[in-house]
Amino acid sequence: MDQYPPNLGLVDRMSAALLGRRVAAACVTVILTICFVAGSYVQATVNQLNDTHQAFNDRQLRNGYVAMSDVQRLVLIMQDAFGKGEMTPNAVDEFRSAADFLFVRTDTFRRTLRNGVYMESADNAVAQLQRVQDLVDHALATNFDGLPTLSQRLTVLSQNARQALVTYLDDMSRQQDRILIRQAIAVQNQRIVIWTTLAGLSVLGIVAIFLLRREVRAKQARQVAEERVRHLAFFDPLTGLPNRVHFQDRLGTLLEKQTSVALLLIDLDGFKSINDTNGHAAGDAILEHVSDMLRLTSDKYDGFASRLGGDEFSVFVQTDDLTLLKCICAEAIDRISQPIVFEGEKLQVEASIGLAMNTQISTQMDMNVDSLSRVADFALYASKSNGKRQFTVYDEALEQQFLKRRAMVEELPRAIADGSMEFFLQPKVDLATEQTYGFEALARWRRNDLIVPPHDFIATAEESGLITDIDYCVLRNATKAIADFNFINNTNFSISINFSTIHFNSRKLIDVVEEALNSSGLAPELLIIEITETIEMQDWDQAKHIIAAIHKLGAKISIDDFGAGFSSLAYLRTTVANEIKIDRSLIEDIETSDISRFLLDAVLDIARNLDLEVTVEGIETRIQADIVSKMGANNAQGYLFGRPMPKEEALQKAIKYSDHVVSRNMARGIQVL
Ligand code: C2E
Ligand code: MG
Ligand code: MG
Repeated sequence: MDQYPPNLGLVDRMSAALLGRRVAAACVTVILTICFVAGSYVQATVNQLNDTHQAFNDRQLRNGYVAMSDVQRLVLIMQDAFGKGEMTPNAVDEFRSAADFLFVRTDTFRRTLRNGVYMESADNAVAQLQRVQDLVDHALATNFDGLPTLSQRLTVLSQNARQALVTYLDDMSRQQDRILIRQAIAVQNQRIVIWTTLAGLSVLGIVAIFLLRREVRAKQARQVAEERVRHLAFFDPLTGLPNRVHFQDRLGTLLEKQTSVALLLIDLDGFKSINDTNGHAAGDAILEHVSDMLRLTSDKYDGFASRLGGDEFSVFVQTDDLTLLKCICAEAIDRISQPIVFEGEKLQVEASIGLAMNTQISTQMDMNVDSLSRVADFALYASKSNGKRQFTVYDEALEQQFLKRRAMVEELPRAIADGSMEFFLQPKVDLATEQTYGFEALARWRRNDLIVPPHDFIATAEESGLITDIDYCVLRNATKAIADFNFINNTNFSISINFSTIHFNSRKLIDVVEEALNSSGLAPELLIIEITETIEMQDWDQAKHIIAAIHKLGAKISIDDFGAGFSSLAYLRTTVANEIKIDRSLIEDIETSDISRFLLDAVLDIARNLDLEVTVEGIETRIQADIVSKMGANNAQGYLFGRPMPKEEALQKAIKYSDHVVSRNMARGIQVL
């Protein structure tokens, strides 16, 4: 089945991955680890710098001490020589070596001082060492001439140098202590700054991930919602099949390409009764079953199945091979009629199909989705009229009928407007006396001087929505005619008006009935609204309110064609009616069929129990009249008592029943104004 897939890009996919708890936790861990490693690295670098500084100070201290020991060594050698009275060659070598050490030490000491912090004591120490160095050089250059003086001066200079070095070392160690304290504080501060920064970064990172997750989640929710809306726009939510819009879109594209397309319109037989008797959940199960079956069929033939609404489905296939198409239709009907079990109950539904091919349609018509659907629907209607559970191919013969019907539909609005839509009256009689007490108004269309019966236009009018205009037209004219007649003749004949169930989905009916009663002046009790079961009521709650409002106006409700469909009992359960009209199909074989008699007996029994009036329709023979009369029916309608006639004729004939109808209706509490 076609889908409209989400367009997730790489970024969307990656951010969608963040939604997983594990991925989000992993990201947080990575951020924390990076911050920790970075912190540790910066800390190590700071420590290293501090250590380098410390090492420099240590080296300086060491140089100072060693220089002191070198000076000490020179003094000792000289004093020793002074004690012995001469500088032996060994002593000279030792002295020179010590002098060299001192030279190197002093030089190193001086050079390293340049890198450190300036200290006056350091300069003094270097100067003192230099003086020792100068004296030592002088002693060596003069070959220790004047040893006692040299020894004495070296002792004094070395004491000065030691004193200067001690002062320097003392300064140095004090400075080192200060540095250490400063360092400790600096390190502490650095640590606080580093870790605070890193903690801040971590928190920011975690908050960012959290916000990103929220954003991604919201985006995903938006995408899911958009996807759902897109899906709903193209697919039926119950069955998952493509819907009417999708169907029109696809079929339209194919028709534009002018490829061979065959359209099967499928309508379920008896679906309404399943809905009414087994409930809506059972109805839904059936619809899902039908969808599955059609999906199988369309997949097999590479077709496209859709649900057009209610119990209407379609499949189109790209072929004009009639033999194959007939197989597909037969297969679809068989598959659909396979029973299903729902909540322990076996349910079964049948289907009728109308088949039309774009290659078969007359050139008189534009080829588009609408025209192809319309002719397939016409073929479907033929299947329904011919007994259901079958398919009909839209062929030339059907096309002739279709074109005739189409011309009629085109004319209907004008006919309603210019008064060509008339009505005949058929008497309703009291079975015991066979006297007329009321009439049923039946629409007739005067077209080209011919009278067209409702059979030829009511269904079409219902499909096109024109039925409301026809019904309102008959209602206004018939109530006026009867009210005038009653007024002039001082009678109280009732009038029954047929209303398609389509009206019961709109409150406009109440206003129209009220207006008809007011403008005609008819006593409301004399108006009977017959509800015909030609189309399903969409909204029972709304219908119940409308029926209640009609009762409030004082008019009556009659259930027409009772017994013709299974749903009639469902009507009785939910509709507050005053009368039921038993359908002609029950009366046709009442003389010969035990079942018909049994059914009529049962219906009469129900009516008595519910305190409903009963009118038996379609009485054509005296025997039928006798049988139903004996079974307890009071009122009847049928050719035996009078066919539908032009109103003047019907009323003229009825005048002789004036007295009867007045007394009959007075007995029922109906007064003439
Ligand atoms: P319905 O309301 O059940 O009307 C009775 C139909 O049975 C009428 O057919 C009537 O002529 C026919 N009939 C009455 N007695 C006999 C009989 O003894 N034998 C036979 N064979 N037929 C009998 P009609 O006038 O052709 O109307 C057919 C249906 O069209 C009506 O059935 C009603 O459902 C519908 N209809 C008629 N007028 C209107 C209208 O103004 N509005 C709507 N919505 N439907 C209408
Ligand atoms: Mg009727
Ligand atoms: Mg009827």
